[in-house]
Amino acid sequence: MQILFLGPPGAGKGTQCKRLAKHLDLPHLSSGDLLREAVKAGTPAGLSAKSYMDRGVLVPDDVLIAMFREKLYAPECEKGFILDGFPRNVAQARSLDTLLEELNRNLTVVIDLQVDESLIVERITGRRVCTNKECNAPYHVKFAPPKKADVCDLCGSPLMTRSDDKEEVLAPRLKTYNDQTAPLIEYYDSRLLLRTIDGDGDPDEIFADILRTLKVPA
Ligand code: AMP
Repeated sequence: MQILFLGPPGAGKGTQCKRLAKHLDLPHLSSGDLLREAVKAGTPAGLSAKSYMDRGVLVPDDVLIAMFREKLYAPECEKGFILDGFPRNVAQARSLDTLLEELNRNLTVVIDLQVDESLIVERITGRRVCTNKECNAPYHVKFAPPKKADVCDLCGSPLMTRSDDKEEVLAPRLKTYNDQTAPLIEYYDSRLLLRTIDGDGDPDEIFADILRTLKVPA
């Protein structure tokens, strides 16, 4: 299966994709995670990406397209993959179409995880993530708190707030989503690939909804 997730920042894509990747034993390719790894590693792509990410605007398309070209050509993606955060605009979606054509693959389904904009601020500003790159477990101070404050339940590493999850970066991120990413809903709907899932509610129920939509056993 080749699955693509859409949805505004804070919709819960990362959490659901990680869980789905485990359930289906597929690689989870998160553009945000890949970019943050590149920033941490200090690669040239990472160094140029950081200033865009810190402002809540899109990193130039060529950086993302090169990154995903390399990933999708890798043997681990032969069995399928879950795309999270790429594409983020119509130009990237067209490049993905070309790339999939080269690989003789199709998207199986596009899941649009929808949440009301009024919920997004609380969801994003309360988000924490494990600082251990191998773990990267997501938390929320209110909705999914760790057992011990600011410590990862899974590996014991400290938790942190992503630099672009601060309230002041949220407005540009939402504007970027509305202006550039939301048009992808129509792009994939017109290709009959789109399935909309309500991302507001209990994460277990949302996951069950995703499995039902994919017609995959729980
Ligand atoms: P995310 O973790 O998906 O919210 O992404 C964090 C930031 O990384 C975004 O606000 C953008 O600056 C950048 N980013 C992630 N995915 C893309 C993409 N497909 N194209 C351009 N920039 C991206």
